[in-house]
Amino acid sequence: MLIPHGKGCDYMDEFTFINRITPSSYRRKEIRKGIGDDAAIFRLRQADTVMAVDTFVEGVHFTKKTLTPAQIGSRLLRVNLSDLAAMGATPLCYLVSIVVPENADPSYIEAIFAGMETDAKAYGIDLIGGDTVMGRELTISLTIVGSVPEEKARLRSDARTGDVVFVTGTLGDSRAGLALLLQEKTIENDLLRQELLRAHQQPTPRIEFAQALRPLARVALNDISDGLANELHEIAESSAVSLTVVDAAVPVSEGLRLWEEERQTNYKYFGGEDFELVGTVSRDDFPFVQQAGERLGLAVTKIGTVDKAATGGAVFVEKNGHTRRLQKYGYVHKSRDKDENHNEQ
Ligand code: ADP
Ligand code: MG
Repeated sequence: MLIPHGKGCDYMDEFTFINRITPSSYRRKEIRKGIGDDAAIFRLRQADTVMAVDTFVEGVHFTKKTLTPAQIGSRLLRVNLSDLAAMGATPLCYLVSIVVPENADPSYIEAIFAGMETDAKAYGIDLIGGDTVMGRELTISLTIVGSVPEEKARLRSDARTGDVVFVTGTLGDSRAGLALLLQEKTIENDLLRQELLRAHQQPTPRIEFAQALRPLARVALNDISDGLANELHEIAESSAVSLTVVDAAVPVSEGLRLWEEERQTNYKYFGGEDFELVGTVSRDDFPFVQQAGERLGLAVTKIGTVDKAATGGAVFVEKNGHTRRLQKYGYVHKSRDKDENHNEQ
């Protein structure tokens, strides 16, 4: 921990802050040592350790206008949980590195950690360490640790010709929710408005769904952080296959249908940050995937197939009887979003 004293940040002295975020006990039995030493310790037996990290910078990944401090914490944890879901892993614990601006309000920083803790409790995972430093921009980096039984990690390189391509939930809602927050659009129906805001502010990582697929020998999975178009390309490239998506099959919510069609298309392929899962599985195993979704009240939709053709790495979209290539480019952060015309070629 590196907090220069006498720099207007007395409240953040090491003792007080770390004490406040140190849990009195740990939820996971694998944790041998959490916060309070030079490093944390956890012990796993007969499982692969899965790790991911994501960083939010104020002004780039969120603003005070679009997220409350509790939502910043919650969303950062959920985004990381989504990466574990995409690997088929069970989350265990996480570490948080935070850069605190000198003029930061202490209650604001604590609310970020409280937001994380609410979700950590819901998922039964623990904060086991981190780092706290002073700096210019509020920046929070969260490293998540999970585990998966040997040979059960879900790789994007596991798609095979003839597979069904599927997605969970509906797509484009997070971008639509952001449009509402940025007042790019207003909608009357409060229920639909709340659903879209929630999709942006508190997306649901598909942890339980991915775990429910454990009995299957092979599933390729990717989470939708940068947009469906981008994630489909990642699967196609990693697996050296081509995919064809039926445009009309890509699920969109009632809320998103309030946007004009071109905007819907843009958001569902390129909006990103939906944190749903996209995957491929053999035709025979697809009913099992659908049933797993049904048990969890989660829609699982077939949106296309992995082609039999030899050309690898391409993604096609069938729409109104035409098949066109889908561009790869996914979500561009709003602050850099000068060209919204990323569309089918
Ligand atoms: P060291 O100087 O040995 O690296 P620190 O003084 O930075 O340790 O931190 C003391 C303890 O507090 C460590 O266990 C560390 O992981 C934890 N810690 C520090 N900052 C955070 C944070 N932002 N979130 C969670 N744990 C933290
Ligand atoms: Mg030390």
